[in-house]
Amino acid sequence: MISAKGYAAHNQDAALELYSFERKEPGDYDVLIDIIYCGICHADVHQSKNEYGNTKYPLVPGHEIIGRIRSIGEKVSKFKEDELVGVGYFILSCGHCPSCITQEQQFCDNGITPTQNGKLSDGTFTKGGYSDCIVVNENYVLSVPETLNQPGAAPLLCAGITTYSSLKHNKVGKGHKVAILGLGGLGHMAVKFAASFGAEVTVLSSSAAKEDDAQRLGAHHFVNTSDKEQFASLANHFDFIVDTVSAKHDYNTYLNLLKKDGTMILLGVPPEPSTLHAHALTGKRRKVTGSFIGGIEETQEMLYYCAKHKITADVELIRPDEINEAFERMVKGDVKYRFTIDMQKL
Ligand SMILES: [Zn+2]
Ligand SMILES: [Zn+2]
Repeated sequence: MISAKGYAAHNQDAALELYSFERKEPGDYDVLIDIIYCGICHADVHQSKNEYGNTKYPLVPGHEIIGRIRSIGEKVSKFKEDELVGVGYFILSCGHCPSCITQEQQFCDNGITPTQNGKLSDGTFTKGGYSDCIVVNENYVLSVPETLNQPGAAPLLCAGITTYSSLKHNKVGKGHKVAILGLGGLGHMAVKFAASFGAEVTVLSSSAAKEDDAQRLGAHHFVNTSDKEQFASLANHFDFIVDTVSAKHDYNTYLNLLKKDGTMILLGVPPEPSTLHAHALTGKRRKVTGSFIGGIEETQEMLYYCAKHKITADVELIRPDEINEAFERMVKGDVKYRFTIDMQKL
């Protein structure tokens, strides 16, 4: 076994604490990665507090991992020692269902194994990237270009691919008017990618203070959603709305901002179901769709795209002993726009 240490939540009310544990030795097709940076995703906060109701403690969160390969299994062919690599939301899928075969493992019919809190065949649960090392099958490891800013690259593995994949799948690009609803971790990546793909980007936010930031991130317009007159003037205006909001909100209000045949892409997942008025769709043949992270091949494509176009997340780099404070600030929305943990300071 390989001795590892990290930060773990031991129950839903406790702060994360330093924790020692063991990882399995790399098998023939596994790589052992020394973790350098790990991003903090909202899911980490929810799962630590058992807000999905399925957390197995002790929980070591973390699925936005950047690191270097310490050693490789005998049959590993894709990676070498010392290579810069990444690990995202999942570390395993069935490999043979229609989604896996078409490199969309995120939709695996038999369920992906998440990087944290995922059940393994031996009955144990995966431990994530708030730690000094991790062992992963080479097919679920990404190559990270050396030219990328590493702390900023960590959130690409979840927030980045979630937005990139949703825009790519819906063929968002030149000539499209795109609204990004919510300017947080997901929203700020959606702005960067949509602008980079050539779309005309508008940020919709209830926080007027975000206007300067929206423009700095590449948005062409900013609309304060609490300004009723300005909001009303946007009726039938957009080709796409990328909805990154995870708090309960009224979809119908925003659907009316879509033009004929426009599409609303849901990325945020509010805890309660919502009411949808059919007329908001039928009246203008509008569509509602959703998207969830991305497959391994597409995540790799995104990392190369980001290196070429110099795109990374805006992050605040913290030490591991600042994780609990970062969780509290994240809940309050007090971060621009993601935290990345420097795991070398463990
Ligand atoms: Zn995530
Ligand atoms: Zn599958």
